[in-house]
Amino acid sequence: MEEERPVDEVLAFLDEDGAEVVLDEREAASLLALTSGLEGATVSACPGCRSRLLACSALVDLLDAAPPHGRAEELVELADEAPTRHLYVQDLASQCRHAKWRDPGAAEWMEVIAEFEEPRGIR
Ligand SMILES: [Zn+2]
Repeated sequence: MEEERPVDEVLAFLDEDGAEVVLDEREAASLLALTSGLEGATVSACPGCRSRLLACSALVDLLDAAPPHGRAEELVELADEAPTRHLYVQDLASQCRHAKWRDPGAAEWMEVIAEFEEPRGIR
């Protein structure tokens, strides 16, 4: 298995400019538990992994309403400063190719992720 990123990075939140907040497994698991899987902010999600397209304003509301989380402030900042209405969550721990994720949200997600995936692989 190739590891292009440190193994402890499992869930990346990106905006369209490539600004990102990356959570490790424990942070990701607790965040998903505290926010009911980010469902309230999810516009579109891959059925095969945790990758998803989030609405920034809904994410801020969701984090405000959720019990405190160590990385919530960073995520709120990312959402507040995002250049578009959406944030892109990439499941780094999954080998999923998102083949079953087919809707306009998936297309938007893939476009943004593809833009940042290459430089990241070179690092
Ligand atoms: Zn997927």
